[in-house]
Amino acid sequence: MNFNKVLVGAIDQGTSSSRFLIFDTKTSELVTYHQIDIKASYPEKGWVEEDPLEILDSINACIDQALDNLIKLDISPLCIQTIGITNQRETTVAFDISTGKPLHNAIVWLDTRTTDTVNELLKKIPGRDKNHLKPRCGLPLSTYFSAVKMKWLIDSSEKVQSAMRDGVCRFSTVDSWLLWNLTGGSKSGKFLTDVTNASRTMLMNIYSLTWDPVLLEFFGIPQNVLPEIRSSCEIYGRMSGGKLDGVPISGILGDQQAALYGHGCLSEGQAKNTYGTGCFMLCSTGTQVISSKRGLLSTVAYKAGPNKPTFYALEGSVAIAGAATNWLRDNMGIIKNTNEFETLAKSVSDTQNCYFVPAFSGLFFPYWESHARGIICGLSQSTTKAHLARATLEAICFQTVDVLEAIERDMNITLKVLNVDGGMSSNNLLLEMQADLLGVPVVRPSMLEMTALGVAKMAGQAEGVAVWNDHSNVYDDSTNDVFVPLITTASRRKRYMQWNKAIARSKNWEL
Ligand code: ADP
Repeated sequence: MNFNKVLVGAIDQGTSSSRFLIFDTKTSELVTYHQIDIKASYPEKGWVEEDPLEILDSINACIDQALDNLIKLDISPLCIQTIGITNQRETTVAFDISTGKPLHNAIVWLDTRTTDTVNELLKKIPGRDKNHLKPRCGLPLSTYFSAVKMKWLIDSSEKVQSAMRDGVCRFSTVDSWLLWNLTGGSKSGKFLTDVTNASRTMLMNIYSLTWDPVLLEFFGIPQNVLPEIRSSCEIYGRMSGGKLDGVPISGILGDQQAALYGHGCLSEGQAKNTYGTGCFMLCSTGTQVISSKRGLLSTVAYKAGPNKPTFYALEGSVAIAGAATNWLRDNMGIIKNTNEFETLAKSVSDTQNCYFVPAFSGLFFPYWESHARGIICGLSQSTTKAHLARATLEAICFQTVDVLEAIERDMNITLKVLNVDGGMSSNNLLLEMQADLLGVPVVRPSMLEMTALGVAKMAGQAEGVAVWNDHSNVYDDSTNDVFVPLITTASRRKRYMQWNKAIARSKNWEL
Protein backbone atom coordinates (compact mmCIF):
# COMPACT_ATOMS: atom_id res chain seq x y z
CA MET A 1 0.00 0.00 0.00
CA ASN A 2 1.19 3.49 -0.91
CA PHE A 3 1.97 5.63 2.17
CA ASN A 4 3.94 8.30 0.30
CA LYS A 5 1.25 10.41 -1.28
CA VAL A 6 0.45 13.80 0.24
CA LEU A 7 -3.34 14.15 0.11
CA VAL A 8 -5.93 16.67 1.29
CA GLY A 9 -9.63 15.89 1.85
CA ALA A 10 -12.43 18.32 0.97
CA ILE A 11 -15.90 18.18 2.49
CA ASP A 12 -18.20 19.83 -0.08
CA GLN A 13 -21.66 20.21 1.40
CA GLY A 14 -23.87 21.64 -1.38
CA THR A 15 -27.60 22.32 -1.60
CA SER A 16 -28.27 19.27 -3.77
CA SER A 17 -25.60 16.89 -2.48
CA SER A 18 -22.80 16.19 -0.05
CA ARG A 19 -19.38 15.05 -1.21
CA PHE A 20 -16.02 14.07 0.19
CA LEU A 21 -13.20 14.48 -2.32
CA ILE A 22 -9.54 13.59 -1.99
CA PHE A 23 -6.89 15.58 -3.88
CA ASP A 24 -3.22 14.93 -4.55
CA THR A 25 -1.26 18.05 -3.51
CA LYS A 26 1.50 17.44 -6.09
CA THR A 27 -0.75 17.36 -9.17
CA SER A 28 -4.05 18.89 -7.93
CA GLU A 29 -5.65 15.71 -9.29
CA LEU A 30 -8.85 14.37 -7.85
CA VAL A 31 -7.86 10.92 -6.57
CA THR A 32 -11.34 9.73 -5.57
CA TYR A 33 -14.62 10.95 -4.11
CA HIS A 34 -18.04 9.90 -2.94
CA GLN A 35 -21.31 11.81 -3.31
CA ILE A 36 -24.73 11.46 -1.65
CA ASP A 37 -27.79 13.45 -2.71
CA ILE A 38 -29.56 15.57 -0.08
CA LYS A 39 -33.35 15.64 0.18
CA ALA A 40 -34.98 19.05 0.55
CA SER A 41 -38.52 19.34 1.92
CA TYR A 42 -41.06 22.02 1.05
CA PRO A 43 -43.50 22.00 4.02
CA GLU A 44 -45.32 25.18 2.94
CA LYS A 45 -45.36 27.46 -0.07
CA GLY A 46 -41.95 29.11 -0.38
CA TRP A 47 -40.39 27.04 2.43
CA VAL A 48 -37.24 25.02 1.70
CA GLU A 49 -35.78 22.92 4.51
CA GLU A 50 -33.09 20.28 4.95
CA ASP A 51 -32.43 18.02 7.92
CA PRO A 52 -29.15 19.01 9.68
CA LEU A 53 -28.68 15.42 10.90
CA GLU A 54 -29.13 14.04 7.38
CA ILE A 55 -26.53 16.57 6.20
CA LEU A 56 -24.11 15.43 8.93
CA ASP A 57 -24.76 11.71 8.33
CA SER A 58 -24.27 12.14 4.60
CA ILE A 59 -20.86 13.73 5.17
CA ASN A 60 -19.77 10.91 7.49
CA ALA A 61 -20.98 8.33 4.96
CA CYS A 62 -19.17 10.13 2.11
CA ILE A 63 -15.93 10.15 4.13
CA ASP A 64 -16.21 6.41 4.87
CA GLN A 65 -16.97 5.50 1.27
CA ALA A 66 -14.26 7.75 -0.22
CA LEU A 67 -11.70 6.18 2.16
CA ASP A 68 -12.80 2.71 1.05
CA ASN A 69 -12.27 3.84 -2.55
CA LEU A 70 -8.80 5.08 -1.58
CA ILE A 71 -7.90 1.72 -0.04
CA LYS A 72 -9.09 -0.01 -3.23
CA LEU A 73 -6.62 2.21 -5.12
CA ASP A 74 -3.97 0.82 -2.75
CA ILE A 75 -3.41 4.20 -1.10
CA SER A 76 -3.41 4.52 2.68
CA PRO A 77 -5.92 6.93 4.29
CA LEU A 78 -2.97 7.97 6.49
CA CYS A 79 -1.80 10.01 3.47
CA ILE A 80 -4.60 12.49 4.19
CA GLN A 81 -2.82 15.36 5.93
CA THR A 82 -5.70 17.71 6.52
CA ILE A 83 -9.31 18.51 5.62
CA GLY A 84 -11.16 21.57 4.35
CA ILE A 85 -14.88 22.34 4.54
CA THR A 86 -16.82 24.16 1.85
CA ASN A 87 -20.56 24.55 2.05
CA GLN A 88 -23.85 25.93 0.82
CA ARG A 89 -23.91 29.43 2.28
CA GLU A 90 -26.59 31.31 4.27
CA THR A 91 -28.50 28.10 5.11
CA THR A 92 -29.20 28.38 8.83
CA VAL A 93 -29.14 25.72 11.55
CA ALA A 94 -30.42 26.20 15.11
CA PHE A 95 -29.24 23.59 17.62
CA ASP A 96 -28.95 22.87 21.33
CA ILE A 97 -25.26 22.98 22.27
CA SER A 98 -25.81 20.79 25.34
CA THR A 99 -27.41 17.89 23.46
CA GLY A 100 -26.19 18.55 19.90
CA LYS A 101 -29.76 18.16 18.65
CA PRO A 102 -31.18 20.49 15.99
CA LEU A 103 -33.99 22.73 17.26
CA HIS A 104 -35.50 23.09 13.80
CA ASN A 105 -34.82 21.90 10.27
CA ALA A 106 -32.17 23.93 8.49
CA ILE A 107 -33.72 26.86 6.63
CA VAL A 108 -32.16 26.73 3.18
CA TRP A 109 -30.87 29.90 1.50
CA LEU A 110 -33.61 29.65 -1.16
CA ASP A 111 -36.42 29.72 1.41
CA THR A 112 -38.80 32.73 1.19
CA ARG A 113 -40.76 32.31 4.46
CA THR A 114 -39.10 35.51 5.69
CA THR A 115 -40.72 37.77 3.06
CA ASP A 116 -42.90 39.29 5.82
CA THR A 117 -39.95 39.48 8.23
CA VAL A 118 -38.07 41.50 5.61
CA ASN A 119 -41.10 43.77 5.16
CA GLU A 120 -41.34 44.39 8.90
CA LEU A 121 -37.61 45.13 9.11
CA LEU A 122 -37.85 47.54 6.17
CA LYS A 123 -40.40 49.56 8.13
CA LYS A 124 -37.64 50.36 10.66
CA ILE A 125 -35.47 51.86 7.91
CA PRO A 126 -35.84 55.44 6.69
CA GLY A 127 -37.31 55.36 3.17
CA ARG A 128 -37.52 51.54 3.34
CA ASP A 129 -34.07 51.49 1.74
CA LYS A 130 -33.00 47.86 1.15
CA ASN A 131 -29.37 49.00 1.02
CA HIS A 132 -29.41 50.75 4.40
CA LEU A 133 -27.11 48.17 6.05
CA LYS A 134 -24.90 47.67 3.00
CA PRO A 135 -22.13 50.04 4.18
CA ARG A 136 -21.60 47.71 7.17
CA CYS A 137 -22.16 44.23 5.75
CA GLY A 138 -22.01 44.63 1.94
CA LEU A 139 -25.49 43.14 1.50
CA PRO A 140 -29.04 44.37 0.85
CA LEU A 141 -31.88 43.33 3.14
CA SER A 142 -33.31 40.13 1.62
CA THR A 143 -34.83 36.77 2.56
CA TYR A 144 -31.56 35.25 1.28
CA PHE A 145 -29.23 35.97 4.21
CA SER A 146 -28.98 34.13 7.54
CA ALA A 147 -29.88 36.98 9.94
CA VAL A 148 -33.51 37.16 8.77
CA LYS A 149 -33.78 33.37 9.03
CA MET A 150 -32.42 33.53 12.61
CA LYS A 151 -34.91 36.27 13.44
CA TRP A 152 -37.74 34.13 12.07
CA LEU A 153 -36.59 31.18 14.20
CA ILE A 154 -36.47 33.34 17.34
CA ASP A 155 -39.92 34.78 16.59
CA SER A 156 -41.62 31.54 15.50
CA SER A 157 -40.07 28.43 17.05
CA GLU A 158 -40.97 27.58 20.65
CA LYS A 159 -38.05 25.15 20.85
CA VAL A 160 -35.65 27.93 19.83
CA GLN A 161 -37.22 30.35 22.33
CA SER A 162 -36.92 27.86 25.16
CA ALA A 163 -33.30 27.01 24.28
CA MET A 164 -32.53 30.74 24.16
CA ARG A 165 -33.94 31.12 27.69
CA ASP A 166 -31.81 28.20 28.88
CA GLY A 167 -28.70 29.66 27.22
CA VAL A 168 -28.16 26.56 25.06
CA CYS A 169 -29.37 27.81 21.67
CA ARG A 170 -26.76 28.22 18.94
CA PHE A 171 -27.20 29.45 15.39
CA SER A 172 -24.79 28.36 12.71
CA THR A 173 -24.25 28.19 9.02
CA VAL A 174 -23.55 24.70 7.61
CA ASP A 175 -19.76 25.03 7.98
CA SER A 176 -19.90 25.57 11.75
CA TRP A 177 -22.58 22.90 12.22
CA LEU A 178 -20.27 20.37 10.53
CA LEU A 179 -17.08 21.61 12.22
CA TRP A 180 -18.63 21.47 15.69
CA ASN A 181 -19.90 17.93 15.14
CA LEU A 182 -16.80 16.58 13.43
CA THR A 183 -14.51 17.93 16.18
CA GLY A 184 -16.44 16.15 18.93
CA GLY A 185 -19.85 17.87 19.33
CA SER A 186 -20.97 18.44 22.93
CA LYS A 187 -17.76 16.72 24.19
CA SER A 188 -15.08 18.81 22.49
CA GLY A 189 -16.66 20.49 19.46
CA LYS A 190 -15.18 23.77 18.18
CA PHE A 191 -17.92 26.29 17.49
CA LEU A 192 -16.24 28.47 14.88
CA THR A 193 -16.98 29.87 11.45
CA ASP A 194 -14.83 31.53 8.81
CA VAL A 195 -14.98 35.08 7.47
CA THR A 196 -16.53 34.08 4.13
CA ASN A 197 -19.47 32.29 5.72
CA ALA A 198 -19.88 34.99 8.36
CA SER A 199 -19.95 37.60 5.58
CA ARG A 200 -23.22 36.01 4.33
CA THR A 201 -25.14 36.35 7.58
CA MET A 202 -25.65 40.17 7.43
CA LEU A 203 -24.28 40.25 10.98
CA MET A 204 -20.56 40.61 10.30
CA ASN A 205 -18.94 43.98 9.68
CA ILE A 206 -17.20 43.52 6.33
CA TYR A 207 -14.25 45.74 7.34
CA SER A 208 -13.56 44.69 10.95
CA LEU A 209 -14.56 41.01 10.30
CA THR A 210 -16.30 40.90 13.69
CA TRP A 211 -19.97 40.57 14.67
CA ASP A 212 -21.28 44.13 14.38
CA PRO A 213 -23.26 45.40 17.43
CA VAL A 214 -25.47 47.61 15.24
CA LEU A 215 -26.40 44.70 12.98
CA LEU A 216 -26.94 42.33 15.94
CA GLU A 217 -29.27 44.86 17.50
CA PHE A 218 -31.13 45.55 14.27
CA PHE A 219 -32.00 41.84 13.88
CA GLY A 220 -32.32 41.14 17.61
CA ILE A 221 -29.66 38.41 17.66
CA PRO A 222 -27.55 38.07 20.84
CA GLN A 223 -23.88 37.52 20.03
CA ASN A 224 -23.53 34.56 22.40
CA VAL A 225 -25.62 32.33 20.10
CA LEU A 226 -23.13 32.78 17.26
CA PRO A 227 -19.82 31.02 16.53
CA GLU A 228 -16.47 32.76 16.81
CA ILE A 229 -15.23 34.20 13.50
CA ARG A 230 -11.86 32.94 12.27
CA SER A 231 -9.79 33.22 9.09
CA SER A 232 -10.39 30.79 6.19
CA CYS A 233 -7.09 29.02 6.74
CA GLU A 234 -5.93 27.84 10.18
CA ILE A 235 -6.21 24.70 12.26
CA TYR A 236 -9.67 25.01 13.82
CA GLY A 237 -9.61 21.59 15.48
CA ARG A 238 -9.16 17.90 14.74
CA MET A 239 -11.49 15.15 13.58
CA SER A 240 -12.86 13.30 16.58
CA GLY A 241 -13.62 9.61 16.10
CA GLY A 242 -14.07 7.76 12.82
CA LYS A 243 -11.42 6.68 10.36
CA LEU A 244 -9.83 10.15 10.20
CA ASP A 245 -9.59 10.63 13.96
CA GLY A 246 -6.98 13.30 14.78
CA VAL A 247 -6.66 14.72 11.25
CA PRO A 248 -6.78 18.54 11.38
CA ILE A 249 -9.52 20.62 9.80
CA SER A 250 -7.69 23.68 8.53
CA GLY A 251 -9.71 25.43 5.82
CA ILE A 252 -13.26 26.75 5.58
CA LEU A 253 -14.72 28.66 2.64
CA GLY A 254 -18.28 29.27 1.48
CA ASP A 255 -18.82 27.29 -1.72
CA GLN A 256 -18.71 30.22 -4.15
CA GLN A 257 -15.61 31.68 -2.57
CA ALA A 258 -13.99 28.23 -2.70
CA ALA A 259 -14.73 27.99 -6.44
CA LEU A 260 -13.17 31.44 -7.00
CA TYR A 261 -10.07 30.27 -5.17
CA GLY A 262 -10.06 26.92 -6.99
CA HIS A 263 -10.12 28.65 -10.37
CA GLY A 264 -7.14 30.70 -9.25
CA CYS A 265 -9.08 33.96 -9.76
CA LEU A 266 -6.97 35.74 -7.19
CA SER A 267 -6.08 38.94 -9.05
CA GLU A 268 -8.38 41.92 -9.25
CA GLY A 269 -10.76 41.60 -12.22
CA GLN A 270 -10.66 37.78 -12.55
CA ALA A 271 -14.09 36.16 -12.41
CA LYS A 272 -15.77 32.78 -12.33
CA ASN A 273 -19.38 31.66 -12.68
CA THR A 274 -20.66 28.50 -10.96
CA TYR A 275 -23.81 26.83 -12.28
CA GLY A 276 -25.24 24.69 -9.45
CA THR A 277 -28.63 24.87 -7.72
CA GLY A 278 -28.27 28.64 -8.17
CA CYS A 279 -25.77 30.50 -10.27
CA PHE A 280 -23.12 32.75 -8.77
CA MET A 281 -20.55 34.95 -10.44
CA LEU A 282 -17.75 36.31 -8.29
CA CYS A 283 -15.07 38.74 -9.40
CA SER A 284 -12.00 39.43 -7.26
CA THR A 285 -11.61 43.03 -6.14
CA GLY A 286 -8.27 42.50 -4.36
CA THR A 287 -7.98 43.88 -0.85
CA GLN A 288 -10.58 46.58 -1.54
CA VAL A 289 -14.28 46.44 -0.73
CA ILE A 290 -16.04 47.79 -3.82
CA SER A 291 -19.60 48.93 -3.18
CA SER A 292 -21.75 48.20 -6.22
CA LYS A 293 -24.10 50.77 -7.66
CA ARG A 294 -25.90 48.02 -9.58
CA GLY A 295 -27.13 45.48 -7.03
CA LEU A 296 -24.02 43.32 -6.71
CA LEU A 297 -23.01 42.10 -3.26
CA SER A 298 -19.69 42.93 -1.62
CA THR A 299 -18.38 39.85 0.06
CA VAL A 300 -15.22 38.46 1.63
CA ALA A 301 -13.37 36.25 -0.89
CA TYR A 302 -10.87 34.74 1.56
CA LYS A 303 -8.39 35.42 4.33
CA ALA A 304 -5.63 32.85 4.05
CA GLY A 305 -4.57 32.92 7.71
CA PRO A 306 -5.15 34.91 10.93
CA ASN A 307 -2.45 37.46 10.05
CA LYS A 308 -2.95 37.50 6.30
CA PRO A 309 -4.73 40.26 4.34
CA THR A 310 -8.43 40.00 3.58
CA PHE A 311 -9.42 39.67 -0.07
CA TYR A 312 -12.85 40.71 -1.31
CA ALA A 313 -15.12 40.05 -4.27
CA LEU A 314 -18.16 41.46 -6.00
CA GLU A 315 -20.88 38.87 -6.44
CA GLY A 316 -23.95 38.55 -8.63
CA SER A 317 -26.28 35.90 -7.21
CA VAL A 318 -28.97 34.20 -9.30
CA ALA A 319 -31.21 32.09 -7.05
CA ILE A 320 -32.43 29.52 -9.55
CA ALA A 321 -30.27 27.65 -12.08
CA GLY A 322 -30.12 23.85 -11.69
CA ALA A 323 -33.11 24.18 -9.33
CA ALA A 324 -35.21 24.97 -12.42
CA THR A 325 -34.02 21.75 -14.08
CA ASN A 326 -35.02 19.87 -10.94
CA TRP A 327 -38.42 21.57 -10.95
CA LEU A 328 -39.06 20.56 -14.58
CA ARG A 329 -38.04 17.03 -13.65
CA ASP A 330 -39.74 16.58 -10.25
CA ASN A 331 -42.80 18.86 -10.42
CA MET A 332 -43.57 18.96 -14.15
CA GLY A 333 -42.22 15.53 -15.12
CA ILE A 334 -40.93 16.74 -18.50
CA ILE A 335 -37.67 14.82 -18.06
CA LYS A 336 -36.78 11.75 -15.99
CA ASN A 337 -33.22 12.74 -15.20
CA THR A 338 -31.09 15.84 -15.71
CA ASN A 339 -28.89 14.10 -18.30
CA GLU A 340 -31.84 14.17 -20.72
CA PHE A 341 -32.13 17.91 -20.39
CA GLU A 342 -29.53 18.92 -22.95
CA THR A 343 -30.82 16.47 -25.59
CA LEU A 344 -34.36 17.77 -25.11
CA ALA A 345 -33.35 21.44 -25.31
CA LYS A 346 -31.17 20.71 -28.36
CA SER A 347 -34.02 19.05 -30.23
CA VAL A 348 -35.31 22.53 -31.17
CA SER A 349 -33.27 25.38 -32.63
CA ASP A 350 -34.87 28.21 -30.65
CA THR A 351 -37.43 28.86 -27.89
CA GLN A 352 -40.11 30.11 -30.34
CA ASN A 353 -40.05 33.34 -28.36
CA CYS A 354 -41.07 31.59 -25.14
CA TYR A 355 -39.52 33.05 -21.96
CA PHE A 356 -39.34 31.41 -18.56
CA VAL A 357 -38.43 33.50 -15.49
CA PRO A 358 -37.88 30.91 -12.74
CA ALA A 359 -38.23 33.43 -9.88
CA PHE A 360 -39.40 30.73 -7.41
CA SER A 361 -37.55 32.40 -4.55
CA GLY A 362 -38.11 35.97 -5.67
CA LEU A 363 -35.48 37.66 -7.79
CA PHE A 364 -32.00 38.08 -6.37
CA PHE A 365 -29.49 40.20 -8.32
CA PRO A 366 -30.01 42.99 -9.35
CA TYR A 367 -33.59 43.42 -8.15
CA TRP A 368 -33.53 41.89 -4.63
CA GLU A 369 -37.26 41.56 -5.04
CA SER A 370 -38.81 39.08 -2.55
CA HIS A 371 -42.26 39.46 -4.12
CA ALA A 372 -41.30 38.31 -7.61
CA ARG A 373 -42.50 34.84 -8.67
CA GLY A 374 -41.90 32.56 -11.63
CA ILE A 375 -43.68 33.10 -14.95
CA ILE A 376 -43.67 31.49 -18.38
CA CYS A 377 -44.77 33.76 -21.22
CA GLY A 378 -44.90 33.86 -25.01
CA LEU A 379 -46.60 30.46 -25.24
CA SER A 380 -48.30 29.43 -28.48
CA GLN A 381 -50.04 26.29 -29.74
CA SER A 382 -46.77 24.93 -31.07
CA THR A 383 -44.73 25.42 -27.85
CA THR A 384 -43.38 22.07 -26.60
CA LYS A 385 -41.47 20.93 -23.56
CA ALA A 386 -38.31 21.20 -25.66
CA HIS A 387 -38.88 24.96 -26.11
CA LEU A 388 -39.44 25.27 -22.37
CA ALA A 389 -36.21 23.37 -21.65
CA ARG A 390 -34.34 25.71 -23.98
CA ALA A 391 -36.00 28.76 -22.40
CA THR A 392 -34.78 27.51 -19.00
CA LEU A 393 -31.19 27.52 -20.18
CA GLU A 394 -31.66 30.92 -21.78
CA ALA A 395 -33.05 32.34 -18.52
CA ILE A 396 -29.88 31.34 -16.66
CA CYS A 397 -27.73 32.84 -19.43
CA PHE A 398 -29.63 36.15 -19.53
CA GLN A 399 -29.26 36.60 -15.80
CA THR A 400 -25.54 35.91 -16.11
CA VAL A 401 -25.33 38.59 -18.83
CA ASP A 402 -26.80 41.11 -16.37
CA VAL A 403 -24.29 40.10 -13.69
CA LEU A 404 -21.31 40.32 -16.01
CA GLU A 405 -22.33 43.75 -17.30
CA ALA A 406 -22.77 45.06 -13.75
CA ILE A 407 -19.35 43.73 -12.72
CA GLU A 408 -17.69 45.30 -15.76
CA ARG A 409 -19.32 48.67 -15.10
CA ASP A 410 -18.76 48.71 -11.32
CA MET A 411 -15.11 47.76 -11.74
CA ASN A 412 -14.50 49.59 -15.00
CA ILE A 413 -13.03 46.49 -16.65
CA THR A 414 -13.76 44.26 -19.66
CA LEU A 415 -13.71 40.55 -18.99
CA LYS A 416 -11.85 38.62 -21.68
CA VAL A 417 -13.05 35.15 -20.65
CA LEU A 418 -15.51 33.70 -18.18
CA ASN A 419 -14.29 30.69 -16.16
CA VAL A 420 -17.13 28.34 -15.28
CA ASP A 421 -17.80 25.27 -13.17
CA GLY A 422 -20.59 23.61 -11.12
CA GLY A 423 -22.78 20.55 -11.78
CA MET A 424 -24.85 22.26 -14.47
CA SER A 425 -21.82 23.36 -16.46
CA SER A 426 -21.59 19.80 -17.80
CA ASN A 427 -24.42 20.96 -20.12
CA ASN A 428 -22.62 21.99 -23.35
CA LEU A 429 -25.66 23.71 -24.83
CA LEU A 430 -25.91 25.94 -21.75
CA LEU A 431 -22.31 27.07 -22.22
CA GLU A 432 -22.72 27.55 -26.00
CA MET A 433 -25.75 29.74 -25.35
CA GLN A 434 -23.90 31.55 -22.58
CA ALA A 435 -20.99 32.46 -24.85
CA ASP A 436 -23.47 33.62 -27.53
CA LEU A 437 -25.48 35.79 -25.17
CA LEU A 438 -22.42 37.23 -23.41
CA GLY A 439 -20.29 37.79 -26.47
CA VAL A 440 -17.34 36.52 -24.39
CA PRO A 441 -15.62 33.09 -24.57
CA VAL A 442 -16.61 30.69 -21.80
CA VAL A 443 -13.90 28.39 -20.44
CA ARG A 444 -14.72 25.14 -18.65
CA PRO A 445 -11.87 23.25 -16.97
CA SER A 446 -11.70 19.50 -17.53
CA MET A 447 -11.82 19.06 -13.75
CA LEU A 448 -15.14 20.58 -12.68
CA GLU A 449 -14.65 20.27 -8.92
CA MET A 450 -13.25 23.77 -8.45
CA THR A 451 -15.17 24.33 -5.20
CA ALA A 452 -13.61 21.33 -3.51
CA LEU A 453 -10.19 22.00 -5.04
CA GLY A 454 -10.35 25.59 -3.74
CA VAL A 455 -10.94 24.61 -0.14
CA ALA A 456 -8.46 21.72 -0.33
CA LYS A 457 -5.75 24.17 -1.43
CA MET A 458 -6.77 26.58 1.32
CA ALA A 459 -6.66 23.85 4.00
CA GLY A 460 -3.34 22.55 2.68
CA GLN A 461 -1.68 25.94 3.18
CA ALA A 462 -2.55 26.42 6.84
CA GLU A 463 0.23 27.07 9.31
CA GLY A 464 1.08 23.81 11.03
CA VAL A 465 0.03 21.82 7.95
CA ALA A 466 1.73 23.53 4.97
CA VAL A 467 1.48 20.74 2.42
CA TRP A 468 0.18 22.88 -0.44
CA ASN A 469 2.16 26.05 -1.03
CA ASP A 470 1.30 26.79 -4.63
CA HIS A 471 -1.25 29.58 -5.21
CA SER A 472 -1.36 29.10 -8.95
CA ASN A 473 -3.59 26.90 -11.05
CA VAL A 474 -1.63 23.72 -11.42
CA TYR A 475 -4.18 21.66 -13.28
CA ASP A 476 -3.54 21.22 -17.00
CA ASP A 477 -5.21 24.15 -18.88
CA SER A 478 -4.70 22.54 -22.29
CA THR A 479 -7.62 20.21 -21.59
CA ASN A 480 -10.07 23.08 -20.95
CA ASP A 481 -13.17 23.34 -23.16
CA VAL A 482 -13.64 26.77 -24.72
CA PHE A 483 -17.06 27.92 -26.00
CA VAL A 484 -16.86 30.93 -28.35
CA PRO A 485 -19.70 33.36 -29.21
CA LEU A 486 -21.29 32.71 -32.62
CA ILE A 487 -24.36 34.98 -32.86
CA THR A 488 -24.57 38.63 -33.93
CA THR A 489 -24.87 41.52 -31.47
CA ALA A 490 -28.23 42.52 -33.06
CA SER A 491 -29.78 39.10 -32.43
CA ARG A 492 -28.43 39.13 -28.87
CA ARG A 493 -29.96 42.57 -28.16
CA LYS A 494 -33.42 41.64 -29.48
CA ARG A 495 -33.69 38.54 -27.31
CA TYR A 496 -32.39 40.42 -24.31
CA MET A 497 -35.11 43.09 -24.68
CA GLN A 498 -37.83 40.41 -24.74
CA TRP A 499 -36.31 38.80 -21.66
CA ASN A 500 -36.51 42.10 -19.77
CA LYS A 501 -40.20 42.36 -20.65
CA ALA A 502 -40.70 38.93 -19.07
CA ILE A 503 -38.74 39.97 -15.96
CA ALA A 504 -40.92 43.08 -15.57
CA ARG A 505 -44.01 40.84 -15.48
CA SER A 506 -42.59 38.56 -12.76
CA LYS A 507 -41.73 41.43 -10.36
CA ASN A 508 -44.15 42.28 -7.54
CA TRP A 509 -46.29 39.23 -8.42
CA GLU A 510 -46.98 38.41 -4.76
CA LEU A 511 -47.78 41.95 -3.67
P1 ADP B 1 -24.97 22.42 -5.62
O1 ADP B 1 -23.49 22.61 -5.37
O2 ADP B 1 -25.76 23.69 -5.56
O3 ADP B 1 -25.55 21.33 -4.76
P2 ADP B 1 -24.16 21.17 -8.14
O4 ADP B 1 -23.00 22.03 -8.57
O5 ADP B 1 -23.87 19.82 -7.62
O6 ADP B 1 -25.13 21.95 -7.15
O7 ADP B 1 -25.13 21.06 -9.44
C1 ADP B 1 -26.32 20.34 -9.35
C2 ADP B 1 -27.42 21.04 -10.10
O8 ADP B 1 -27.12 21.09 -11.51
C3 ADP B 1 -28.74 20.29 -9.96
O9 ADP B 1 -29.78 21.23 -9.76
C4 ADP B 1 -28.88 19.57 -11.31
O10 ADP B 1 -30.24 19.39 -11.69
C5 ADP B 1 -28.18 20.52 -12.27
N1 ADP B 1 -27.60 19.80 -13.43
C6 ADP B 1 -26.59 18.91 -13.40
N2 ADP B 1 -26.30 18.47 -14.65
C7 ADP B 1 -27.15 19.11 -15.50
C8 ADP B 1 -27.35 19.11 -16.92
N3 ADP B 1 -26.61 18.36 -17.72
N4 ADP B 1 -28.34 19.90 -17.44
C9 ADP B 1 -29.08 20.69 -16.64
N5 ADP B 1 -28.94 20.74 -15.28
C10 ADP B 1 -27.99 19.97 -14.71
